[in-house]
Amino acid sequence: MRMLIMGPPGCGKGTQAERLSQRLGINGVSTGEVFRDHVKDLTPLGRDVKAHLDAGNLVPDDLTNRMVRDRLAQADVRDGFLLDGYPRNTSQLAELDIMLAAEGHALDVALQLTVDNAELARRLLHRATVTGRTDDTEEVIRHRLKLYYRETEPVAAAYSERGILLSVEGTGPEDKVFDRLLAALHASFPDAMDGPL
Ligand code: AMP
Repeated sequence: MRMLIMGPPGCGKGTQAERLSQRLGINGVSTGEVFRDHVKDLTPLGRDVKAHLDAGNLVPDDLTNRMVRDRLAQADVRDGFLLDGYPRNTSQLAELDIMLAAEGHALDVALQLTVDNAELARRLLHRATVTGRTDDTEEVIRHRLKLYYRETEPVAAAYSERGILLSVEGTGPEDKVFDRLLAALHASFPDAMDGPL
């Protein structure tokens, strides 16, 4: 399956993406994670993207698209992947379509986790004290939420129009959310989901 998971910062998509890729046996590609690794390893790409990450801004599309294109060309994701954090705007969406179409593929499903704003802010501020992520300060959080609704919600709307968006309530215990995701996938793709839920 070629799929992605999206949702506002703090919705738990990183955690759920890891669990899903393990459960479904497909490799996850988290653009945020890849960028953070580059920053940590002081690579040239890391130096280019650090200021964008710290400010909670999107990394420019050309850098992001190139990174994703290179990653999706690798053998371990040729037959399936779970993208986490990409596409973040409609021009990245168009670019992903082009990348996949070049190989005769298309996205099978876009999962969206929904969580209300007050809950998101609470979770992110808590995460700030635990992970020490430089983009988890109150001001940057507010900015990232605003960007999400402005830039990324239209991506969800486009997938919804295509009929491939599965929206799942992301509030509540992690296990419950995971069960909801599996149930939603199972309802849409009974054949692709082997074994019990
Ligand atoms: P995340 O871990 O998904 O919250 O991403 C952390 C940060 O990485 C974002 O705030 C952006 O600065 C950058 N980033 C991740 N994915 C993208 C993307 N698709 N386009 C642009 N920037 C991204």
